[in-house]
Amino acid sequence: MQIKFLKSIVEDLVGKQSVPIIDLLVDKKDVNEFQIAKKLNLTINQTRNILYKLSDYGLVSFIRKKDKKKGWYIYFWTLNIYQSLDLLENNLKKELEQTENESKSRKENRFYICQTCSIEVSEENALLNDFTCPECEEIYELADNQEFIQQLSKKINKLKKEIELVATEKGKEGEKLDKKKQRKIKRVEKENSDKRKTARALKAKLNKKIVKKKPVKKLKKKTIKKTAKSSKPKKKK
Ligand SMILES: [Zn+2]
Repeated sequence: MQIKFLKSIVEDLVGKQSVPIIDLLVDKKDVNEFQIAKKLNLTINQTRNILYKLSDYGLVSFIRKKDKKKGWYIYFWTLNIYQSLDLLENNLKKELEQTENESKSRKENRFYICQTCSIEVSEENALLNDFTCPECEEIYELADNQEFIQQLSKKINKLKKEIELVATEKGKEGEKLDKKKQRKIKRVEKENSDKRKTARALKAKLNKKIVKKKPVKKLKKKTIKKTAKSSKPKKKK
């Protein structure tokens, strides 16, 4: 289900030729771009162009590593499923809004059609042309709005179902991300507490050392004081 959705987004955004990229990225992490290029039978530049476009929409993200032998950077790509579903949901919602507006307009307005030219015009334009087609001089007929309204209503139902499915999938992905985030927070917290423990241990060690050194310091201070006193008159000169 999810893959079908992802493919339809990619097709909308960057064209049909890049759809197979989804099969290579789905359920994987950090996929080598040279492998993608090889499997898609594209050059590395063509592959990167597609991936950059997808990354502009936030659908994929990358990490890069330097190839020690060749000295250049290799990019490793990961699909952002949550962002992809979010984008798809927004697109479907926009389409639903447009379709609902169209349906509303069909219900409220009359349209006229020239059967010869298969051209449809609004009532306003039909009136301007005296209900006669300017192309072939055929008289306009009233268009059958009912048929349109039925088609649009089918489309509206389909879109609503799709939006519901995408929203469910998005919710699941969101939960996964939250869990990942929670794990990350816990890991960072543990790391920080470990760091604090080491810092405390280090501090304790240093304190011990300072305590041990104390008698030496006292001696030094005395000698400093003496020299300071003796040096005072010299300063006045
Ligand atoms: Zn006509």
